[in-house]
Amino acid sequence: ALVGQRYLYNRVWIPDNEEVWQSAEITKNYKAGDRFLLVQLEDGTELSYPVDPAALPPLRNPDILVGENDLTALSYLHEPAVLHNLKIRFVESKLIYTYSGIILVAINPYKQLPIYGDAIIHAYSGQNMGDMDPHIFAVAEEAYKQMARNNKNQSIIVSGESGAGKTVSARYTMRYFATVSKSSSKAHVEDKVLASNPITEAVGNAKTTRNDNSSRFGKYTEISFDRSYQIIGANMRTYLLEKSRVVFQSENERNYHIFYQLCASAMQPEYAHLKLGSAEEFNYTRMGGSTVIEGVDDRANMVETQKTFALLGLKGDFQMDVFKMLAAILHLGNVEIAAVGDERSSISSEDKHLSIFCELLDLNCDKMARWLCHRKIVTTSETVIKPMTRAQAANARDALAKKIYSHLFDFIVERINQALQFPGKQHTFIGVLDIYGFETFDVNSFEQFCINYANEKLQQQFNLHVFKLEQEEYMKEDIPWTLIDFYDNQPVIDLIEAKMGILELLDEECLLPHGKDENWLQKLYNNFVNKNALFEKPRMSNTSFIIQHFADKVEYKCEGFLEKNRDTVHEVLVEILKESKFRNSLSLLMVTLNATTPHYVRCIKPNDEKLPFEFDSKRVAQQLRACGVLETIRISAQSYPSRWTYIEFFSRYSILMTQQELSLNDKKQICKTVLQRLIQDHNQYQFGRTKIFFRAGQVAYLEKLRSDRL
Ligand code: ADP
Ligand code: MG
Repeated sequence: ALVGQRYLYNRVWIPDNEEVWQSAEITKNYKAGDRFLLVQLEDGTELSYPVDPAALPPLRNPDILVGENDLTALSYLHEPAVLHNLKIRFVESKLIYTYSGIILVAINPYKQLPIYGDAIIHAYSGQNMGDMDPHIFAVAEEAYKQMARNNKNQSIIVSGESGAGKTVSARYTMRYFATVSKSSSKAHVEDKVLASNPITEAVGNAKTTRNDNSSRFGKYTEISFDRSYQIIGANMRTYLLEKSRVVFQSENERNYHIFYQLCASAMQPEYAHLKLGSAEEFNYTRMGGSTVIEGVDDRANMVETQKTFALLGLKGDFQMDVFKMLAAILHLGNVEIAAVGDERSSISSEDKHLSIFCELLDLNCDKMARWLCHRKIVTTSETVIKPMTRAQAANARDALAKKIYSHLFDFIVERINQALQFPGKQHTFIGVLDIYGFETFDVNSFEQFCINYANEKLQQQFNLHVFKLEQEEYMKEDIPWTLIDFYDNQPVIDLIEAKMGILELLDEECLLPHGKDENWLQKLYNNFVNKNALFEKPRMSNTSFIIQHFADKVEYKCEGFLEKNRDTVHEVLVEILKESKFRNSLSLLMVTLNATTPHYVRCIKPNDEKLPFEFDSKRVAQQLRACGVLETIRISAQSYPSRWTYIEFFSRYSILMTQQELSLNDKKQICKTVLQRLIQDHNQYQFGRTKIFFRAGQVAYLEKLRSDRL
């Protein structure tokens, strides 16, 4: 036995370079204050392991708890326990789903599993979450049931990094709703709702190095139900489409799928007027040096895209208009701009691609050629036409391509939404949010800033929700109000969105005629360095800033912030600028989410090689930190992580009860008496109406007593 309750056990976790943590057994008593711990590793190696007496290695959970389907039910709650539990389930039992309190953790198996068929959907339908194995269908069922029971709107918030499985999960929830609410009478409403997915994926997904089918936009799909809880339509809102991809792709990445589908079908007679050819012929599609995706047939997918459009009632004419715009963009990207001296540029009147571009969009070719190479500057006193350099003109051409594409994208979404409106009054809805999680790369820019800001807002909403649920549970169980220490990220949100915060300063700089990224950054330095603990200036850089987000510190490069922020702004009016489009739609999203009952799914990418059932502990640990799972674990650890009903306690620990105790006839009273005798520190548990609430470590202690008895 070891000193004190803490080292009653000899099984600990010690840090490991490869696996993050490895298990070890303490071989010699630890005495308070010792700076070394003698341990034996699993392979038999004995080790004198240096420890900080104030922060001793975390303890391992008793075996009965390993493989638990809810992480928060572990007795010792910390990173190694969570990682180990997930790993055992995933690698040994091939179980990809685990709960962490109210969160469903979903680890991408990178393999088709036979767990999504209609029979499974029906098995989950009508069941209680706690009675079934963790599953994405269980979350969908819970949302559906709560909607019907409480007449309240619900939302399912799916997040995770690129390639973690968000889009696949979101699709499964929608399939669940379509299947359980199916009625024979309606005109395939459910099929149409599901059909919206392939279309938005064709125009909003692309191959990246991390995911062959990466969504380059966020999406919130609201599925509407009538009074009898059958689907009567859907509506979606999209966020933060990555526009730069239209004109630029990094190595081994592609533009949006639809361009390749179209090019692969170029030889068909009905597309002859688009004057397209292979994707290799266009700058905007060949730049990444990879125009094909292994296992993907772009031409066959084009047929699917057309079928899906048709299923939604978007007929040939509409489709042809869309294809014309897409072809026009590709031709625009091939327009050659020549330098005329250092100051000017020009486009030949013979430029084949320019004339096709103008023909497709019905534009005047001479004017187009002129305006691509000149700009108009309007001041209060005069209007001047200035020539642009070749680089400026190329930039203007790309900006135009991005504008056309983003309008086209919005237009398609709008038409799909119209197609998903059916007669009947919406009674309630379930919204499904598929949005990128917290991101941090080597170089972070405006896009990551927006995503991380959105994630701060989602995290805050999550924290408040968990806090509220905890309080409600205590009230239900008549447990005196207990202070739960929960992390509030309002200070970071203030840094970003408060008056004179990062965004307001950005908007102001955008309004200045000579606004510059560097000048804005200087203002940030002046306002926040040494004044706001969450803001830092990197030691070696004058072009970036660091924000301490809830998940991690992120360094942002200031280059391009002004231009990209302007891009999201429509009118040059102060009032309107104050609520630029992004932020407007984000705050609308938060208002919507706040008015619903949320359900959370956190997707985890287990390895970067897309290998089936490979668990890279480092990568998983990093994502668990970034998505707030470890934060929930920390909160749970501080309150009462283990909750057993009196019945459960009675049946497992009757072996610890004396004859005298067992002779009492009230089982609840027996449990109380036994526990008061076994654990003297009464602060370690609370007796609720139906459950006993245990502090961290207590169940492990009871398990120890029990196994000593056996
Ligand atoms: P994200 O939207 O998070 O970027 P996706 O949902 O597109 O990621 O998933 C990336 C890929 O991972 C999918 O194309 C699929 O091959 C695989 N995948 C994700 N979830 C599952 C799952 N539940 N079962 C099998 N494969 C999956
Ligand atoms: Mg996706």
